[in-house]
Amino acid sequence: MDFRPDPSLDAFRREVREFLEGLPAELRNQPRSTRSKPAEVRLWQQTLHARGWGAPYWAKEHGGAGWSLSQMLVFDEECAAAGTPTVDGFLHKLLGPVLNQFGTPEQRAAHVLPSLRGERLWCQGFSEPGSGSDLASLRTRAEIGGDHYVVNGQKIWTSYAHESDWIFLLVRTDANVKKQSGISFLLVDMKTPGITVRPIRSIDDFHHLNETFFDSVRVPVAQRVGEEGGGWSITKFLLNNEHASAAELPSLKRYMSELHRLADAQHLRERPEFALKLARLEAELQAIAMMVQRVTALEQAHDPAALTLGSMLKIRGTELQQRLTEAHVEALGDYGAVAYPHPELESNARFPGQDAARGLANDMFFRRASTIYGGTSEVQRGIIAKLLFQL
Ligand SMILES: Cc1cc2nc3c(=O)[nH]c(=O)nc-3n(C[C@H](O)[C@H](O)[C@H](O)COP(=O)(O)OP(=O)(O)OC[C@H]3O[C@@H](n4cnc5c(N)ncnc54)[C@H](O)[C@@H]3O)c2cc1C
Repeated sequence: MDFRPDPSLDAFRREVREFLEGLPAELRNQPRSTRSKPAEVRLWQQTLHARGWGAPYWAKEHGGAGWSLSQMLVFDEECAAAGTPTVDGFLHKLLGPVLNQFGTPEQRAAHVLPSLRGERLWCQGFSEPGSGSDLASLRTRAEIGGDHYVVNGQKIWTSYAHESDWIFLLVRTDANVKKQSGISFLLVDMKTPGITVRPIRSIDDFHHLNETFFDSVRVPVAQRVGEEGGGWSITKFLLNNEHASAAELPSLKRYMSELHRLADAQHLRERPEFALKLARLEAELQAIAMMVQRVTALEQAHDPAALTLGSMLKIRGTELQQRLTEAHVEALGDYGAVAYPHPELESNARFPGQDAARGLANDMFFRRASTIYGGTSEVQRGIIAKLLFQL
């Protein structure tokens, strides 16, 4: 495979760059390790929609930009480099493809356009206490009563539930069949009576995680996507998307350039042990970038090998995220010992070193979770063993 930069993407990269350079200041140079604030996500979504790029990852026939996977990667890289707000990944990468594939025309009409106009943010209600990796064991139940389901149960680790308008939810609609066969996929308005969201404050000092409780929540049957009991096939489809993006290459590149900036500011290249660390991290980043190109090519060719390599990318990419963010804190020297407030958190307090160090320790702490969310490294290794070694 030829790993040199593809010149056919140059014109596209210029087009994206010109668009990004013309953005107002509030849409550039944003901190973006976690999701941006809701108002910024909405404004960014509106801006993209107005440009005709509201669904950058979807096919043209579904209202998407119709880009190739390589173009999507260029778009993501340029956005990360420009520091635009993040998009609602739950909509773009998870729910959108599901609605496009399994939703009825009425469901698409009701949900897609408002979401692409930035009026509707989504969260994902899959995990439960005791049902994370073993998702099929989930117990939140939905009992049918006329034209409504009545939902009771609890979800956990619901990222951004407190600032989302709707949730896509896995529920058990039949407890008497094989566990995978009794699950259904529902779309639920977060304002429906009976939903309680309780914050979980995480080690990075943010509130993005939640427990979400459902107490006799009435959900119209028309808001079920796919057949009753067909939720597991939809979930497999949803979790199988986007192998090439598992490593979050644009974030890795942004972290690397931040590390170079810190290394220059602190004169760290003169220290052999740090110079060696920097070279190793850079080499690993290049290796991941090449692998992303390879997985992209395999995905474009619909080669099932993309699945195994996608799991490898998830493991290596998230481990590199952790090492890069640890190196940021190390590069700060004494200032790294203090967790300065993240730029997204309001704080008027001033501390020495804050300008260089704000949020870096928070990012390092947040990235401890990256080898857990989106499928733990152990589970990814299980997938690799099963598929590659036919275990
Ligand atoms: C920051 C963050 C955000 C999240 N956001 C969301 C969200 O928005 N919506 C949502 O639904 N969920 C979310 N999750 C939940 C996430 O998907 C789960 O945490 C993940 O699937 C792991 O499940 P668990 O926490 O129940 O751990 P468990 O599955 O109980 O795993 C515990 C340990 O056992 C290991 N293990 C489990 N099964 C196997 C196996 N078969 N082989 C080898 N080892 C195994 C795991 O790797 C892990 O080390 C989020 C999690 C985090 C940390």
